Amino acid sequence: MLLLFGIPIGALAAYLYKRDRDLTRDVRTDPVCGMKVRPDSPYETDFGRRRYHFCTDSCRRKFNSDPQRWLRHRQAESTDE
Ligand SMILES: [Zn+2]
Repeated sequence: MLLLFGIPIGALAAYLYKRDRDLTRDVRTDPVCGMKVRPDSPYETDFGRRRYHFCTDSCRRKFNSDPQRWLRHRQAESTDE
């Protein structure tokens, strides 16, 4: 049997597959530029009762300077929430 650090390769592949799928499902949208952002992004801010994630610090600063504007902008584009 093929082992990597004592873990069977099949189990490792299954673990990585599941982790990737979970991260994909849990992806966030940057409200400023619309990019998909992983929830472990270091650029985040709390506004209202929600936490928003950003692709860069520049997007986060834009959002913080006028959160309502960016949230309105996003609502105009998407009706899935
Ligand atoms: Zn962005």
